[in-house]
Amino acid sequence: MKIEDIMWDLERNRVINEIIKYNAKRVLFQGPEGLKRNMEREIEDIVKYFRGKGRDVELILWGGSSFGACDICDIEVKHLNIDLILHYGHEELPYSKSEMPIIYIPVYYSPDREHLMGIINDINKILKKQENLPIIATTIQFKKILREYNPTVILGCRTNINEEMVKDKDIIYIGSGRFHPLMLAYKFKREITLYNPITRNYSKIEKKDVDKFIKRRLGAIYKLHIHPPKKIGVVLSTKRGQCRINVFNNIIKTLRKKNINYVPIVLNNISPESLIYDVDAYILCACPRIVLDDHINYKKVLLTPKEFEMYINNNFNYVFDEVFLDDFIY
Ligand code: SF4
Repeated sequence: MKIEDIMWDLERNRVINEIIKYNAKRVLFQGPEGLKRNMEREIEDIVKYFRGKGRDVELILWGGSSFGACDICDIEVKHLNIDLILHYGHEELPYSKSEMPIIYIPVYYSPDREHLMGIINDINKILKKQENLPIIATTIQFKKILREYNPTVILGCRTNINEEMVKDKDIIYIGSGRFHPLMLAYKFKREITLYNPITRNYSKIEKKDVDKFIKRRLGAIYKLHIHPPKKIGVVLSTKRGQCRINVFNNIIKTLRKKNINYVPIVLNNISPESLIYDVDAYILCACPRIVLDDHINYKKVLLTPKEFEMYINNNFNYVFDEVFLDDFIY
């Protein structure tokens, strides 16, 4: 099934009302890749609606990235006389505040009644089999259909679920894809059960795969013990919700104290093409998933800030690099 064919609630009436409320003439639509075609169609229909009312609005599609609510484009478009940004697919983060008016449209999953009843049935069956009530995690898209289960909404880099809460309990991720539940597997180093409400399929992230992942990451740290780095690139992303400046400053402090040469690098989008420097390793103060999921595409060793801390402290008990409010200046 193509993502465009899934029943998503793009809240058109709310969008129209917000445009009217802001008396907006130029509106920017930002959303992740998978929603861009839906947004394109949405723009056409909303323009038609306003023309029918004798009102001219310019609705512009943001063609750049939108990896999360950490990646809002207010800085890039603030000189374009945009009156309002509509950000689709995420909810606001406390550490990623826009300088321009911005409205978040979470894009809730909105299946028909029959499919919804099937989902509820499936979930109740899973829950019946559990001795202890499991922890249910999801993403913002599925929060509405799961409200009776009081799920925890997670990001790929952050969750309010802690060790104490998952003691003696299973973790069930209800949502699509593996990006978000992998965070749970990395953080808690255990198997995660997955249920996809769109396909109604079950799967798992298996413990052996989590162990393999941890072994690989410990290997990257171990490499630095074998060949201590002479120079490290410390990279800070300018994306609002990835700009972990306090983490960046602390790393530089440590490098100075340890007398390790470094080059601080600031950029927006981190990619293999942008990290071309003469260093032995990079520490990325940005989205931790760039290191964990994409390191294979980079020529040099990449470390998350937590992994760097592990290297410095000679600690081999793997710690997932979670993004926290304290990472930012506010
Ligand atoms: S920092 Fe990474 S994982 Fe976290 S919200 Fe942004 S893109 Fe997602």
